[in-house]
Amino acid sequence: MTTSESRNHTMMNACVLHAVGDIRYQQVPKPHPQRGQVLVRVAFCGVCGSDIPRVFVKGTYRFPTIIGHEFSGIVEACGEDVNRVSPGQRVVVFPLIWCGKCAPCEQGKYVQCIDYDYLGSRSDGAFAEYIVAPQENVLPVPERVSLEEAAMTEPAAVALHALRRVQGDLLGRSIAVFGAGPIGLIVAQWARAMGAAPIFVFDIVDRKVRMAQELGFELAFNSRERDALEAIRSVTQREGVAVSIEGAGVPQTFVQAAMCTMRGGTMVILGNPSADVMLPAGLISQLMRREVVVVGTWNSDYSAAGNDDDWRAVLDGVARGTIALRSLITHQVPLRDAPQLLLMMKEGREFFSKVLVYP
Ligand SMILES: [Zn+2]
Ligand SMILES: [Zn+2]
Repeated sequence: MTTSESRNHTMMNACVLHAVGDIRYQQVPKPHPQRGQVLVRVAFCGVCGSDIPRVFVKGTYRFPTIIGHEFSGIVEACGEDVNRVSPGQRVVVFPLIWCGKCAPCEQGKYVQCIDYDYLGSRSDGAFAEYIVAPQENVLPVPERVSLEEAAMTEPAAVALHALRRVQGDLLGRSIAVFGAGPIGLIVAQWARAMGAAPIFVFDIVDRKVRMAQELGFELAFNSRERDALEAIRSVTQREGVAVSIEGAGVPQTFVQAAMCTMRGGTMVILGNPSADVMLPAGLISQLMRREVVVVGTWNSDYSAAGNDDDWRAVLDGVARGTIALRSLITHQVPLRDAPQLLLMMKEGREFFSKVLVYP
């Protein structure tokens, strides 16, 4: 272990969820890397949209748990037999700990693992000074990618994964993204990088619409002011879009995404649902007649073997400037202020897009 005095302490600061709504900034024992594990000093951890219901409504798998699963950091120490990374290296961590034994795991489809662990919901996450993870989950960050940007690898991989669920090339195909939160804005950027056009972005919050416009998406609209279907039809000769992405998780956008998808098009279900959705029979009939493909997307693909997975594609895309993540950051807050920050987000007292905390 390192000789730095401050880092030799056996305790560390963390934000611990003790019960639904009970999150505390406190001291906890600092973890130690076991065989095959890496101890990472957390640099930045993002607040995921799912963290708000996790903290205030649903809770974590067990209590107490340190939340936070979107993070970057620096390797502090390595357990025995670690050969993939070394101390001092800048890294990101795939937060899903797969079992390695089930059929999906054998095919490398870790997100479909039937017996997984998850940092920040089932196990301790990165709202802390340190975290341990298996070395297979740890990926070095390219030099040109900042640790702030690297902390957004997970949402950017989720966004890419959603588009990779669509069959065929996106080049020249029209797309509509419903929901201009961080993931929606990254979906739109990936779509542009893949040559999709035109690209529509819809939200009901003006500031989010403006963020999309600032990223160069001229066809970004507030769907409270401009009917989404009408906006799409006026540009696409009434055809609709080849790909619709439901990224808001609300009934209205689910219906809009279904309505605007053209013949033979694809609708991707990306947003975590916040309520039941009622589909009119006429709309279901339309989906049938138009032979729309409806696909779900979950998490992102990560390869321990170093294949072209979503995670490496993100780090490469950020390094090349294919996608811009930095402009999505609206808040950077010290870890000790995280409990107040989460409350602010829950109550929507301030406008926010991507929110990062740092220990
Ligand atoms: Zn997340
Ligand atoms: Zn498994």
